[in-house]
Amino acid sequence: MSVRVRFAPSPTGFLHIGGLRTALYNYLFAKHHGGECILRIEDTDQTRYVETAEKAIIDMCRWAGFNFDEGPEQGGKYGPYRQSERTELYQTHASILIENGAAYYAFDSADELEKMRERQQKAGLAPKYDRSIMRNQTTLGEEETSRLLAEGEPSAIRLKVPHSGEIRFSDIVRGEVVFAARDIDDQVLLKSDGYPTYHLANVVDDHLMEITHVIRGEEWLPSTPKHCLLYEAFGWEKPKFAHLPLLLNPDKSKMSKRHGDVFVEDFKNKGFFAEALVNFIALCGWNPSSDREIFSMNDLIEHFALEKVNKAGAIFDYKKLEWMNNQYFRSYDPAVLAPELLEVLKNYVYPTVSADYAAQVIKLLRERISFVADIPTFGDYMFVRPVSFDEEYKSKHWKPETHANIAPLVGIFESLSDFSNQSLHDTVHAYTTEKQIALKFIIHPLRLMITGKQVGAGMFETMEVLGKKEVLARMKVFLENNQ
Ligand code: GLU
Repeated sequence: MSVRVRFAPSPTGFLHIGGLRTALYNYLFAKHHGGECILRIEDTDQTRYVETAEKAIIDMCRWAGFNFDEGPEQGGKYGPYRQSERTELYQTHASILIENGAAYYAFDSADELEKMRERQQKAGLAPKYDRSIMRNQTTLGEEETSRLLAEGEPSAIRLKVPHSGEIRFSDIVRGEVVFAARDIDDQVLLKSDGYPTYHLANVVDDHLMEITHVIRGEEWLPSTPKHCLLYEAFGWEKPKFAHLPLLLNPDKSKMSKRHGDVFVEDFKNKGFFAEALVNFIALCGWNPSSDREIFSMNDLIEHFALEKVNKAGAIFDYKKLEWMNNQYFRSYDPAVLAPELLEVLKNYVYPTVSADYAAQVIKLLRERISFVADIPTFGDYMFVRPVSFDEEYKSKHWKPETHANIAPLVGIFESLSDFSNQSLHDTVHAYTTEKQIALKFIIHPLRLMITGKQVGAGMFETMEVLGKKEVLARMKVFLENNQ
C-alpha cells in the first residue's frame, strides 16, 4: 500500500514554525517513500476560524518549497478537503457509533456541566464527564432518550470510554504508549449544533482519505487514545502514529510569541531564505546521524527517516538559524540576489545603483552579515560617503603622524591603472616596506577615511568595489578635514 500522509492545520491564524516542521516532515516522509502528502483544512471550530488563514498557510508551505498532492486548491479523489464541507459524513458516522453502542446521547446544558466541574474541583478531582450521574442516554434510558430527541431537546454525542483497562498503541517516535482508560474523558464527538469535534472529524477523515501514517506534534498525543477507541468502535484499522517533539527555546521553555518570532511569516519578513529555514527546521528534532548540516530539499527527501526523530524536545537555536542563513547567503549567485537588494534599497535615500554594483556589494558583505536586508545599514558607506566617523576608532588610529603617512598614497593610487584588490594589496605592501611602517598604520586609517567604521569586509576588496574615483575623493576630503 502506498504511503499517504496529511498535514491537517486548523485555519486559526498564521502558520506557526512548529506547524511548518510538521508539514515538512509529512512531506519528506511521503516523498521519501514515493507516496502522497495531502492538505486537509480542519475548520470545524467556527469560533476560532480566521478566513485568511487557509491561504496564508498554503502560501507559506509553497514559499518553503513544497506543494501538496491533494488539497482544497488542487482537489483529489478523496475530497472535499475542508472539514466544513464534510459535516454530513461526520453526522452519519456519529450515528453508526450510537447504533453499535460506542457512543451515547447527552443532554446536559452548559450550566449543568459547569456545576459538575465545580463539584469535582471542590472534591479535588480532575474534571471529567461523569457518565453515571449526568443527563444522558445511559442514565435516562432508551425511552426517555427517544422522547427528548423527538422533542428536539439539544443533544451532544459522547464517546463511551471504558471505566477500566488500558489503551495501548505504538508510536514510531515514542515507542509503546499506554494510557489508563479511567483517565480518558467521555469526549464529545458531535456537538449539539451538529458540528463534529476535532476527534471525530480527524479519525473519520484519516480513515476515509486512506491515511497510512499520522505525523503530528506531541501536543496531540493525549488525543490519540481517544482516536484509538474510535478506530476500534468503527472496526477500522489504525494508521501508524508518529508524534513529533516540541520545539523549545534555548532555556527549554515552550516556544511562544512572548519569546520572539514563531510564525513562518515573521521569518520570511526578516529576510531568512526559505531553503535555510527549511534546512534548519528539518534538523529540529530529526537527527541525520552524521555531522552534515547542509541539506537541500532533495537531500532531505533522500535521507529523512521517522525512526531518527528524537523523543526529547528540540531546541530552536536562533543563532544557529542565522548561521544557516549565512551559509545559504554565501552559496547563492550574487547576481540572483541583486534584485532583492535593489528592492530593499528603495527604503533608503541612497543614490540609485546598478544591479551589477548591487551584486558586487552582496559578494563583498555576505562574509560579514546574514541578511540581504542588513546590507544598507551595515554597509551604508557602499552607497553614500560617510558623514560621521567612529570616534573611538578614530582616536585609536588617527595619530599626529598618520596624515603624513597616508598623504603620499593619494598620488600613488591615482597613478594606478589597475585598481583591483590584488593590485591595491601589492601597492600598499610595497609602500609600507619602503617606508618601514607596519601595515596596520595604513589599513586602519584607510578604513576610517573610506568607510567611517571599524568593521567591514576586507579593505582592498572594499576599495575595489567602490572604485578609484570614489576612494580618492573620500581620501582627499578626509585629509583636508583632518590636517
Ligand atoms: N487540526 C489539528 C491541528 O491544528 C490537527 C492535528 C492532527 O494532525 O491530528 O494541528
